[in-house]
Amino acid sequence: MKIVTTKFELKETLREFRKKNISVGFVPTMGALHHGHSSLIKKSINDNDVSVVSIFVNPTQFGLDEDLSKYPRTLKSDLKICEILGVNIVFVPSVEEIYGNDEVKIISPNLSGFILEGFNRPHHFDGVLTVVLKLFHLVSPDNAYFGKKDAQQLILIKKMIENLNLNITIHGLDIVRDEDGLAVSSRNIYLNEKNRKKALALSKAIFKVDSLIKSEIRDIDMLKKEALDLLIDVEVQYLDFYTYDLHIANKLSNCILLGAIKVGTTRILDNLWIE
Ligand code: AMP
Repeated sequence: MKIVTTKFELKETLREFRKKNISVGFVPTMGALHHGHSSLIKKSINDNDVSVVSIFVNPTQFGLDEDLSKYPRTLKSDLKICEILGVNIVFVPSVEEIYGNDEVKIISPNLSGFILEGFNRPHHFDGVLTVVLKLFHLVSPDNAYFGKKDAQQLILIKKMIENLNLNITIHGLDIVRDEDGLAVSSRNIYLNEKNRKKALALSKAIFKVDSLIKSEIRDIDMLKKEALDLLIDVEVQYLDFYTYDLHIANKLSNCILLGAIKVGTTRILDNLWIE
C-alpha cells in the first residue's frame, strides 16, 4: 500500500498504474474509519483493479459553529484498516495541499442543496461538492463509492456528475449499522451511554416504518406519524419522505424517508430508501 500526501505523488503513482490500462475505484473519507467506510472500500476493491482511499477532514464543509477541531482523527488505525483491506493508494493531504486562497468553488443547487442538511448546515454542500470535485480531478476514478447514509450528499454528487458532465460512475451503498441498530458514524463517539440510547429512537423509527411498509401500509402521513411518535426525548430536525431528486414525495415509491435528530450536541442521520 502506498501512502501519498501530495497531489504530485498521487498523480505520479496513478500514472504508473494507468500504463496498464486498469480500472480505478475511489472512496473519499474524512478518516476515523469504521465499518461503514470498510464496506465502501471492500466494494471498491472487489470492483476495480486499483483502489484509492482519501483521508481528509475537509474544513470547508464545516460551519463556524461546528466540530472541525474536535473531529476524530485516528490516522494510524485508519492506515492499518486500509492496509488490511488491501487498498492500493491512500491519499492523506494537508489542508494547504488541497486549498489555496481566493479560490473558485462549487455552489450547491439553490433548492436541493439548501433543504434538510443544507438548511441545518447552510453551505455545507458547497464544501462537500468542491472537495469531491477536486479529489475526482486528482484521482480520475472510473468508479466512486459513497454511503446511502448521507443520502442528500449522494444525490447531490450524482447531480454534480450529471450537471458537470463527469465520466465517473457513482455507487451508493447500504447503511451499515451497529448491533443495536444505530447507523455507524465517526461522530457516534460523542454520544455517552444515555444519549446513545436516546439516539436509537431514530433507527427504531426507521425500522418501524420499514416493517409497516412491508405489511402493506402505504399512507405517507400515517407512516410519518408512526415514526414521529417514536422520536421522544430528542430534537427532531426533520423527518419526511422525499423523492430521489429531493422533492417532497406524495406517493410511496422511488422515495426516501430522511430523518435527522439532535441528541445533546450530536446530530444523528438515518434514512430508508423505498423502491
Ligand atoms: P465520512 O468519512 O463521514 O465523510 O464518510 C465517508 C463515506 O462513508 C461517505 O460516503 C459516507 O456516506 C459513508 N458512510 C458513513 N457512514 C456510513 C454507514 N454507516 N454506512 C455506509 N456508509 C457510510
